[in-house]
This record gives sequence, structure tokens and C-alpha cells, in this order.
Amino acid sequence: MSNRNSLYKLVLIGDSGVGKTNLLTRFCRNEFNIGSKMTIGVEFASKTMEIENTTIKAQVWDTAGQEKYRAITNTFYRGAKGALLVYSVTERQSFVNLKNWLTELRENSPKDITIMLIGNKIDLADNREVLTHEGTNFAEENNLNFIETSAKDATNVEYAFLSILTDIFEKNK
Ligand code: GDP
Repeated sequence: MSNRNSLYKLVLIGDSGVGKTNLLTRFCRNEFNIGSKMTIGVEFASKTMEIENTTIKAQVWDTAGQEKYRAITNTFYRGAKGALLVYSVTERQSFVNLKNWLTELRENSPKDITIMLIGNKIDLADNREVLTHEGTNFAEENNLNFIETSAKDATNVEYAFLSILTDIFEKNK
């Protein structure tokens, strides 16, 4: 199958407030927003990039607040090639809830979906509640790739997206 001009759908999941929207805006528009967002968010944003000399378009879907009401629709997961499962290193509960997100993801998403675990907000070092090795262990136990990021100062954000997109690209070769 040819990868030429492929469209790759990625979904961002995880507890409210962990930084999903800001990871999206950092990656797609190189923007960061302090404070609360608009109540009605965009459903997705796109970014075109080159992987191994091939142009691909990443279409990144945000929950836009649906996760608060446990009302994520089937449309959200449909056709997703990758999922970025996000927690905040400053909020242990968002880490504890990962197992519920994985269950929901595995029940609703395509079987061959590629998943990357992201521990966000590492710029807030003084408020850290979840250690790096806890993230590493959870990722190993559940067969996920793992990276820690800061959407605020842009640490590893480009790398995280590029890494999952390259994995998907390789799988679809
Ligand atoms: P979402 O509900 O998961 O989409 O989270 P948001 O992207 O709306 O972020 C929630 C709050 O955390 C906002 O006040 C953001 O400014 C803040 N935030 C998001 N990412 C980071 C980060 O990497 N570092 C810091 N310090 N704050 C962040």
C-alpha cells in the first residue's frame, strides 16, 4: 500500500486538565494558552509533515471537553491510527485513571491502533507527583511507547508526535 499523501488520524485522550488541547495547539500551531479554554473547542487540527521523504497529514482530534461527561462518541475513535494517552506528572489521579482510559480505548478504537503514553507538564518540577520510572513501568506493562513532555515550554512535543507518526508510517508501509 502506498503512503503517498496519507492522512493519519490521531486522538488525544486522558483526564480533563492534563494538557491535551495545549499539546495539540503546540504541535499544530506552536501555540500555548494559559488558563481556561473556550467551552466549545475545535474537534481537530491538522499538520502536514515529511516522514522519510513522504508527505503525510496528521489530523489530531481533541476530546473538546467530552471526557468530563464520559460522552466520547464513536466518531471520535473511528478510523484512528494512533492515540496519545495523556496524564499530568503533577496530578497522580490522572495517572491512576490511565487504566480506565486504556480499557475505553481498547474497546472503542481500531484493533491495530498505535498508542503512546505521555506524561505532560514536566516544567512544573516542584509540583511533580508521578515519577518518570512509574510512567516507564506502566508503559512497559501495557506495551506502550512513553515520553514526558511540556506543552508549555515545548519539550518533547514535536518528538512525541513525530515518533508515533513514524511508527504508524512504518506499520503501514
Ligand atoms: P485538557 O483539558 O487536557 O485539554 O488540558 P488543557 O490543554 O486545557 O490544559 C489545562 C491547563 O493546564 C491549562 O491551564 C493549561 O495552560 C495548563 N497546561 C497544559 N499543558 C501544560 C504544561 O505542559 N505545563 C504547564 N505548566 N501547564 C500546562
